[in-house]
Amino acid sequence: MFKLHLISELKEAFIALKGKTLTLPKPRKATHPLPSPQQKMLISDKKCFGCGACATVCPARAISLVENKKHRTVTITVANCIYCGLCIDACPEDALSLGAGDELSALTKDHLHHELKIKLARCEHCRTITGTQKSLHKVIKDIYAPRGVPTKELEWIHLCAACKREFHSLRLTRQMAK
Ligand code: SF4
Ligand code: SF4
Repeated sequence: MFKLHLISELKEAFIALKGKTLTLPKPRKATHPLPSPQQKMLISDKKCFGCGACATVCPARAISLVENKKHRTVTITVANCIYCGLCIDACPEDALSLGAGDELSALTKDHLHHELKIKLARCEHCRTITGTQKSLHKVIKDIYAPRGVPTKELEWIHLCAACKREFHSLRLTRQMAK
């Protein structure tokens, strides 16, 4: 191993002595230009429905999701953001963007911290958390409403997975008994 290393160094020295130039490969170009330091990650309170995809992909842990009994809170800690843009690509609602923000230096750190509280949805039968209310409305609006499914046929939508299964098997049994 040592011998091989020595041979390659001797070869390089020999080429240099002969006057040929040694060139290293050029560094790769950045794919995205770096954002201005006067920009910061912004989240749209209106669009975000609390799916958590952004928190999962964020390599700097600048986005976090915490739940209490009533709310899911999405928090962005702007000071931790490294401007990679992965969260923007991951968000299904285009709720994240790099926008003009305050300069990062300030007397308080309030502007470096954005919290968004989203109401949780619970199963109407067993009260298990099923997601957020916004995500439930999104499913109704984007999937069932365009297909013309009437709301009265969606009574099961407010149930958790286990209660949904029970609801459907009961309904099937009743239909078969008729
Ligand atoms: S841009 Fe990158 S570092 Fe900043 S919040 Fe999004 S995923 Fe995290
Ligand atoms: S990915 Fe988008 S919709 Fe989901 S929690 Fe993040 S900002 Fe909200």
